[in-house]
Amino acid sequence: MIFDSSRLKLPLRIKADLCVVGSGAGGAMAAMTAAEAGLSVVVLEAGAYLTPADMVQREEVMFPKLYWEAGGRTTADRGVKIHQGRGVGGSTLHNLNLCKRIPNHMLSAWAAERKLEHLTPEVWAALYTEVESMLEVSRVPEDLWNRHNQLLAAGCKQLGWKGGGLEHNRTGCVGSGFCEVGCAYDAKNNAAKVLLPRLIKAGGEVLSHCQAVRVEHEKGRVTGVSAHALNPSTHEPVGEVLVNAPAVCLAGSATATPAILLRSNVPCPPQSTGDSLRIHPALVAAGEFDEPVYAWRGIPQTYECTEWLQLDKEGGHRSWIVPAFAHPVGTATLLPGHGSTHQLFMRRYSHLAALTAMIHDESKGTVRPKGPLGLSIDYWPNESDRRELLFGLWASARLLQAAGARRVVIPSTPLRVFEKNDSLDPILDLPLERGLIDITAVHPMASVPMGDNRTQAAVDSQGRHHHVGGLWVADGSLFPSSIGGPPQLSIYALGRHVGRAIAADTKR
Ligand SMILES: Cc1cc2nc3c(=O)[nH]c(=O)nc-3n(C[C@H](O)[C@H](O)[C@H](O)COP(=O)(O)OP(=O)(O)OC[C@H]3O[C@@H](n4cnc5c(N)ncnc54)[C@H](O)[C@@H]3O)c2cc1C
Ligand code: SF4
Repeated sequence: MIFDSSRLKLPLRIKADLCVVGSGAGGAMAAMTAAEAGLSVVVLEAGAYLTPADMVQREEVMFPKLYWEAGGRTTADRGVKIHQGRGVGGSTLHNLNLCKRIPNHMLSAWAAERKLEHLTPEVWAALYTEVESMLEVSRVPEDLWNRHNQLLAAGCKQLGWKGGGLEHNRTGCVGSGFCEVGCAYDAKNNAAKVLLPRLIKAGGEVLSHCQAVRVEHEKGRVTGVSAHALNPSTHEPVGEVLVNAPAVCLAGSATATPAILLRSNVPCPPQSTGDSLRIHPALVAAGEFDEPVYAWRGIPQTYECTEWLQLDKEGGHRSWIVPAFAHPVGTATLLPGHGSTHQLFMRRYSHLAALTAMIHDESKGTVRPKGPLGLSIDYWPNESDRRELLFGLWASARLLQAAGARRVVIPSTPLRVFEKNDSLDPILDLPLERGLIDITAVHPMASVPMGDNRTQAAVDSQGRHHHVGGLWVADGSLFPSSIGGPPQLSIYALGRHVGRAIAADTKR
């Protein structure tokens, strides 16, 4: 059953074998796996329970419902925008459905460097196969690539750069193009559509509008979770929820999980919790074409340029290029200027294509709890990452020019406009300073990196906390580094892996 905690009689005290915090890719998968193995499971989710009928596909309605801080979450200094989902299904409700495995060389390096006994590349391969089948992952047929993606493919072809079609977890997609604000057609094979029904069938319970505040623990073992039921509109606490459980799994995402661990004073080795956040920071270049692009129509991201994603090469480039979001409000906030200048750009909206270069980042950010419910993120790319960001921006601009853009616009202050035959090299020397150019991120990860050495890592390669019994982590926090590609498939896989370990451990 799914309950809106704000409508229950409060304070509420409940018991379960396992309490899972967060219902996104990792949490829903871990909860479902443990419930199907016979555990009584309760999931606490800070966001709302929304169905396809609620997804009206309008940005101004859906952003406040589906995103933390209505989509306005930033680092503490406002230098970087970080979009994260909130709702039963987490960020899988509004993500763009790209599915990609982490390359084997990275998995092998993790296993060796972090001593991941339970997560060898072979274990990952089996998990991927299982999860891909569950989520019905398949390559998007070429005849469904929209003009936006075709232009990226054309740019790659023209320059002789590597690229190719992407795999997605969607069935029955009608190409409405508004994936990022939830799917009205129930075409996303996401946590809400695929995992939630199985969790409920296995007897699992979900409390929506219920935000975990701290993990309760005593003498080195968890005893449960204390949480607040939230007012659905204001998100203000309306009453207490206390879950008594011998096992607790944190899956509130790579920002919430370290914040809860730190707020709860869970013991851990230095720098193992909340000190190594990676986010895949990204910059965007826009191209104006003579022909209409209608970038908002059709499936948003079906093609990638991987020419500059040289992760297996020492000192190689680390930029992954895909089409950027194309919704009207999103585009309007990205484009610079005010009044008539801004209007001039928006008048050409139908002729714009935008590319984003996300980088496999090395910089480490921090997450700290802020009060009983909040958190604070510090992140700014180091010099090497700043150089790579500008390189990725240059490569995106080059692709747009090669695809035939009449001009390329870099949405910075001041605005940079490059006409058809202009050299793009000045992009490499742009000042990358806070407030002068928008850095955005949608992939927070690696904030509680797993490792089997208990003196270095807080959590082992099964997601088990080394220092408090019965405590587990099952979300993007676990990655030992950034991955340079879409993370959801790997987080679903981790949820499966951790869910199984919890079931085996708790039933013993
Ligand atoms: C716009 C956008 C597009 C994306 N597109 C893709 C894509 O195409 N492919 C891809 O692989 N990845 C994509 N991602 C990223 C991907 O969705 C996430 O990496 C993934 O869902 C993270 O899984 P998670 O389990 O770590 O956290 P989430 O899926 O974010 O789930 C965490 C859940 O925990 C809840 N929560 C947080 N704190 C608490 C608390 N204290 N108490 C209770 N509940 C709490 C949150 O509300 C949320 O529902 C995208 C992300 C965004 C924002
Ligand atoms: S493009 Fe497809 S998956 Fe995305 S919102 Fe539209 S119908 Fe749903």
